[in-house]
Amino acid sequence: MIEERAELYGAATPQELAAEVYENYKEFVNPSLARVMKLSGSPVEVRARGCTIWDHNGKAYLDFAGGYGVFTLGYMHPRAVAAVRDQLDRIALSGKTMFNVLLGRAARRLAELAPGDLRVSFWCNSGTEAIEGAIKLARAATGRAKIVGTEDAFHGKTLGALSVSGRETFQTPFRPLLADSVCVPYGTTDTLEDALRDAAAFVVEPVQGEGGVHVPPAGYLRDVRAICDRTGALFIADEIQTGLGRCGYRFACDRDAVVPDVMTLAKGLSGGIMPVGAFIARPHWWNRAFGKAPLLHTSTFGGNELACTAALTAMNVLEEEGLAEAARVRGEQLLTGARAVAAEYPAVVRQARGLGLLVGVELTNEGYGGWIIPEMLKAGVTAAWTLNAQRVIRLEPPLVVTAREVDRALAALRAGVATAFEKLGTL
Ligand code: PLP
Repeated sequence: MIEERAELYGAATPQELAAEVYENYKEFVNPSLARVMKLSGSPVEVRARGCTIWDHNGKAYLDFAGGYGVFTLGYMHPRAVAAVRDQLDRIALSGKTMFNVLLGRAARRLAELAPGDLRVSFWCNSGTEAIEGAIKLARAATGRAKIVGTEDAFHGKTLGALSVSGRETFQTPFRPLLADSVCVPYGTTDTLEDALRDAAAFVVEPVQGEGGVHVPPAGYLRDVRAICDRTGALFIADEIQTGLGRCGYRFACDRDAVVPDVMTLAKGLSGGIMPVGAFIARPHWWNRAFGKAPLLHTSTFGGNELACTAALTAMNVLEEEGLAEAARVRGEQLLTGARAVAAEYPAVVRQARGLGLLVGVELTNEGYGGWIIPEMLKAGVTAAWTLNAQRVIRLEPPLVVTAREVDRALAALRAGVATAFEKLGTL
């Protein structure tokens, strides 16, 4: 507690800090979001370690929102922090005109871990940038324009990524988006072959995260692979949320043992220390797109030394600490527990589903969530909605979460659901 108080960013009291941050958000960040956050009782984050965030009052929260999948290694993993600190004393951002050791090493390590012959990678700063790059690669490599996505998908909010994301609310104010972009149903290949016949690429999440945590039938990605081979469209696997251990596999594509043509990564790639994204491609496609024009796709900050140091360390920690396997075991515990809550309160919870430590709890009515998430927060556990499905509460803690922490989160979920039922009855 004392340590947290000492970190109040110069404010005399916790209340003053909370007032200051609210005022700044309201005036200078995002006025309407500021009000929503205040209404829902959002505290101020001041410090975090492992699976725990401390707020301005020194209260600890188990973080089961997990930065929407960023904190694979937990907050502030000591090895990643030390590596980044050390790098900060050498060179932080690339001068760009000289070779960058860390970019080379991170790219090599990613190619070692990625499935099959995925080999050449481009490094950027976020998930949506990785998707933009992958779409550009597909268009340049195939000479085709059309990009196919899936209904309810989420790939980011820049214009290209938004074009193949599946929520009207996020798209409408920005139309026209990319011409020739269409969405097909997720998890079935019924209409896929027709859609892909003249397409540059199919962009698909191995588990649809923001769409409400939908796990496709086993074999779906194998069918996708075969259809892409037949039609000549590139298979872009968006592993931004599902990759790097999250779903209990190194990459969620490994569940179907498929090799996509391009894979996009971000979120967990740096272990939660630095913003970083990347797409990695099979050499054949890479060369067709960028082989003769090395500056066709670039980024000033992409591949910087700090981000690549964090990513390199995070990939090593992921492997050495067996975090994909840990996610599988803890994920089963979490899903089993969430299903027990669903069985106990069928009027409130329609279904719990997921893969590894990406679990979604679908409510029978959105209204219940207004009680469940705040009640969980009061009990010291964070959880969040999925972006494209407001009826699904996501649970995606760091992969280092312990069995006891999972039990605590489940107890908070159960209590939240019980309160929601008590207050609202059957809706
Ligand atoms: N793709 C997927 C599957 C995501 O879940 C997200 C973010 O939630 C993105 C892309 C976009 O990433 P970013 O917010 O870093 O741009």
